[in-house]
Amino acid sequence: MNDLSLASISLETLQKCMKTWGLPAFRAKQILDWRNKGILDLAAMKNIPQQVKVILEEKIQVQPLQLVSKQQSSDGTRKYLFALNRKGQAKKHIETVLIPEENRGTVCISSQAGCVLDCPFCHTGTQKFEGNLTPAEIVAQVLAVKQDLLTDPMFEGLHNQVTHIVYMGMGEPLANETAVFDSLALLMAEDYLHLSRRRITLSTSGLVPQIERLGREAPVNLAISLHTAINDLRNTLVPINQKHDLQKLRKCLNTYPLAKKRHITLEYVMLADVNDDDEALKALVSFVNPERERVNLIRFNTYPGSAYQGSSSEVVDKFAKGLISKGIRATVRRSRGDDIMAACGQLKTAKQS
Ligand code: SAH
Ligand code: SF4
Repeated sequence: MNDLSLASISLETLQKCMKTWGLPAFRAKQILDWRNKGILDLAAMKNIPQQVKVILEEKIQVQPLQLVSKQQSSDGTRKYLFALNRKGQAKKHIETVLIPEENRGTVCISSQAGCVLDCPFCHTGTQKFEGNLTPAEIVAQVLAVKQDLLTDPMFEGLHNQVTHIVYMGMGEPLANETAVFDSLALLMAEDYLHLSRRRITLSTSGLVPQIERLGREAPVNLAISLHTAINDLRNTLVPINQKHDLQKLRKCLNTYPLAKKRHITLEYVMLADVNDDDEALKALVSFVNPERERVNLIRFNTYPGSAYQGSSSEVVDKFAKGLISKGIRATVRRSRGDDIMAACGQLKTAKQS
């Protein structure tokens, strides 16, 4: 595969390349203006001469992703299935979700094709791992959604349609460390996607050394897939806990730098008769630091062959009230895109079944 990719190249590098390829350097800025809007399709770049396009095609990866299908849920959530455009490799697929709301548009991106961490309730974890995404493949998901919205009459006249990014799609972002840190830099770069760290959230099952690095180098909003505060149970539900246990996680969370008025989110998927009883509540209450953290209770999205069942609404409500009565901020995550199986953690299901 060609290392240079239009989705991840900097202006400086592209200008240098242009010179080496015998092309005028000023074209680099024109090309990247298109890209920054979400356009990677050379045919749509009206001010770029054909001869420049031919050379680009030859020298640099232009489109890292190929759209395979797009589904829209009754609540407006859109799910995109992409094939990775890797020369000479069998097709690998990833998914991206757009959650449009009144004043924001959140894109849920994938960082890996599959995941090796094997959380037993997670569908991605039960699938075959097919590899890490490159920075270009990560960022191109955002570009593809931007491009889709640019050409959609429903979104006409709306400028900032993509305002927030969450790393909550397929894969464990901090297990693809180098590419994910590079992708964060591209999302935040002033001359590229220019998103502030307050608008980016990274969800991780708890890779402690990498969380510490995130805190030092790119302190975006942090979400932790906690799912239980009982150490033995977490060894099963989130197996990475065997390496980085709750005590280590606790220490690391205490020092993670927070933006003003921001919290760490502790994600907690409610599993019937597994982590939803009084003992589980008590353990969670003693784990949470209410000054810096809040709990996001997630309804379990079931899938064919799953060994788990979601807690009933009554149990979820009771659990939430139990937390709130102890001064802990708790919310129940609204499920979006249920009818198209777009819920994070459940991506790629439909295609494979
Ligand atoms: N690997 C990262 C990010 C991707 S998963 C992580 O684990 O945090 C995003 C969130 O969806 C995680 O909190 C994950 O535990 C949760 N999740 C996975 N499978 C789920 C399911 N079937 N129903 C509900 N949430 C699920
Ligand atoms: Fe991987 Fe996250 Fe799923 Fe666990 S929950 S298997 S870390 S994607």
